[in-house]
Amino acid sequence: MTIEKYDQILVAIKESKTIIIHRHKNPDPDALGSQGGLAEIIKASFPAKKVLKTGGSVGDLAYLTTMDEISDEDYQEALVIVADTANTPRISDERYKNGKKLVKIDHHPNDDAYGDIVLVNTNASSTSEIIADFCFYNKDELKMTDEAAKLLYAGIVGDTGRFLYPATTPKTMRIVADLMEFSFKPDEINRKMTAMSQKVAHLSGYVLQNIAIDPSGVGKVILTKAIMEQFGVTDAETSAIVSLPSSIEDIVLWGIFVEQSDGHYRCRLRSKGPIINEVAKKHDGGGHPLASGANAKDLVEVNEIIEQLIQVAEQR
Ligand code: AMP
Repeated sequence: MTIEKYDQILVAIKESKTIIIHRHKNPDPDALGSQGGLAEIIKASFPAKKVLKTGGSVGDLAYLTTMDEISDEDYQEALVIVADTANTPRISDERYKNGKKLVKIDHHPNDDAYGDIVLVNTNASSTSEIIADFCFYNKDELKMTDEAAKLLYAGIVGDTGRFLYPATTPKTMRIVADLMEFSFKPDEINRKMTAMSQKVAHLSGYVLQNIAIDPSGVGKVILTKAIMEQFGVTDAETSAIVSLPSSIEDIVLWGIFVEQSDGHYRCRLRSKGPIINEVAKKHDGGGHPLASGANAKDLVEVNEIIEQLIQVAEQR
């Protein structure tokens, strides 16, 4: 199935003069790694093609890749590839609909199977792993470059939590080994990806100090606008603290609830085992079984989510 899709995607790339690559809003290293890595591979393999990346601000991840200026005309006759994005509302840049053909490449559950070609592999650790596999599988026609290998490595490190999460497989490690044969500095990427500002370090202290753990093992931290202002951090910077509770032994699953400027809460949910994405789906969200996101309109809905998470934890 996957191989058939690899073949179809390679044909679509070869047929197109312009390829525009999208990814999800609030990009993480896997979104940018898979988007940027694929762009580098196509550019190196087919130098005559126009390859563009879109999706707006990349926040503090500009050391990985940045976006291109794209006109509406660029979409005429273009192949549009959307990387690492489970559902259409999460695609950054709505013009993804304006191309000639649409391809989805992703590793999240395929609840929204948009696109003319849908390549979804939920067994892959990351979309970056899929892109690397796609390139190595087609090694006679696609060229991996040092820059692409660096970006894909970063995406895999990001989505596996530095190879700690269960999605890390022997295949992940084989692909990482092949990527590390290229010339880039993995230690430098690792350092950049784990580096935090002093204000985020202080917020980390707050999270560990204030996390409430219920008897079923559900951890909860609410980061109100006032707390965010007190520490001087933005919503995007909360990525650095989301995995912190995993090292607390009593915690089975947890939520970090980040108040947004309009008063709603971005809910960042994680689990060591029990499946939590079904709860996320009930609250304007979704994601992976063990790493999901949702939106709560107010604290009442935050508490509903916590109650539902407690039920999940109690059923294990
Ligand atoms: P985050 O906490 O934002 O890092 O999200 C964790 C995972 O859940 C990622 O794989 C996201 O793609 C997914 N996710 C986050 N928010 C949403 C949402 N509103 N709808 C669907 N999936 C989401």
